Amino acid sequence: MTKDFTETGWNFDNSYARLPQTFFTSQKPIPVSSPKLAIFNEQLAASLGLNIQSLQSEEGAAAFAGNKIPEGASPLAQAYAGHQFGHFTMLGDGRAVLLGEQLTPAGERFDIQLKGSGRTPYSRGGDGRAAIGPMLREYIISEAMHGLGIPTTRSLAVATTGEEIARESYLPGAILTRVAASHLRVGTFQYAARWGTEEELRELADYAIKRHYPEIETDGNRYLSFLHEVIKRQAMLIAKWQLVGFIHGVMNTDNMTISGETIDYGPCAFMDTYDPATVFSSIDREGRYAYGNQPNIGVWNLARLAEALLPLLHENQEEAVTLAQDKLSDFAQFFESNWLEGMRAKLGLFNEEEQDKSLIKDLLDMMQKHRADYTNTFRALTLDKPEETILQETTEFTQWLERWKERLGRQEESRDSSIQLMRNSNPSVIPRNHRVEEALEAANNGDFTVMEKLLEVLVNPYAYTAEQNNYTTLPEASHLPYRTFCGT
Ligand code: AMP
Ligand code: MG
Repeated sequence: MTKDFTETGWNFDNSYARLPQTFFTSQKPIPVSSPKLAIFNEQLAASLGLNIQSLQSEEGAAAFAGNKIPEGASPLAQAYAGHQFGHFTMLGDGRAVLLGEQLTPAGERFDIQLKGSGRTPYSRGGDGRAAIGPMLREYIISEAMHGLGIPTTRSLAVATTGEEIARESYLPGAILTRVAASHLRVGTFQYAARWGTEEELRELADYAIKRHYPEIETDGNRYLSFLHEVIKRQAMLIAKWQLVGFIHGVMNTDNMTISGETIDYGPCAFMDTYDPATVFSSIDREGRYAYGNQPNIGVWNLARLAEALLPLLHENQEEAVTLAQDKLSDFAQFFESNWLEGMRAKLGLFNEEEQDKSLIKDLLDMMQKHRADYTNTFRALTLDKPEETILQETTEFTQWLERWKERLGRQEESRDSSIQLMRNSNPSVIPRNHRVEEALEAANNGDFTVMEKLLEVLVNPYAYTAEQNNYTTLPEASHLPYRTFCGT
């Protein structure tokens, strides 16, 4: 059937809704008074097979605000649990609904979720709503992560609701349309293990395997392979975070996906000065989710996934524990090899030498000691402008540069190919906290041009354009220390 050009292009399937009822509650978004499209991601819409013109309309605004349910969608709130700062709780979509899964022209399947769409049975005391600031913030940072080449949920649109929501003050309400490989979380499995039957847990695992790891479907012990694959993907993801200085800020088990995508951009932020102890989130008082602790928390969360899967791993539970522990112990190795490979690329190194680790460590130690900016230090090395880092004034850095140049000389590849590798591995620009704040402040006053310009330079952070130079300046001292708040 050929489609009319005015059609919106939605092409929903609802496979999650075919899981046992225990995993969700049917729930429509709660209509809002005056929906308006604040920002719309045309490129993403096109790749999803959506009709840009017809969605940039009142009808589109109504859809992205939850007032009009697209044809074929079967809205629901997902049930899940999770460890929040180490404490286990029942959670679920308290302010989101899954509309369904968009099947794209390329044959892919993506969850389409409205976040901030009103109360659900899982809302507990919350109002089910979101403020415009945090939703635009998620839009900017998730799209920046995508530009950086890091697996992430995407942002399709933000619609304002025309309603005010009560926080510390009254704020304009907004709804984010989030696109994800799926919203299956470690916490979804914790929920199944705690409140579902073993059969339901198995159905969930089979569903996750089919959706994200179809290549292991016929493995002898496919649930063990599943654990192995999730561990591998999360190790790769967290290594990528570390390499660009991304701090998630709230790595609770409900905020860790099974697909290996970054999810839930609440109090996250990028590190400026290199320091493993960096924490931005105002509620993370003990530094549980500090930059340097992210790999440890990653494996801690994966241990919670392994626990949830135990009944499926082996009929003898002692055996199951041994199998799970064996898989968990691989995390460190996966993380380390991904991280080292990424660090070598950041330094323009193609081959491997034993001393590379100390070359990298010494550079990081210098950055920490002299409070150098993480991104700009690698940027200066990439541009061969060491004078642009504050390390330049130190003799230890001069010595380090010598060592690095010698090391580069000991590989076959040319200096040019090294530079190219560095350009592809060291972003020229990241969404710096003060620039994000500036964009949000302008948007709050109705001016979206600042945000649009920021988004433009973040599309390809490895381009090293002249425009991107303007985004490398550090915040003034008065802006430090930066604090983030949970996206509520
Ligand atoms: P988060 O910290 O965003 O991962 O959210 C943790 C839990 O709180 C999830 O179950 C959310 O659905 C829920 N939640 C967050 N904000 C609200 C809100 N305004 N109303 C209802 N539930 C919320
Ligand atoms: Mg969450």
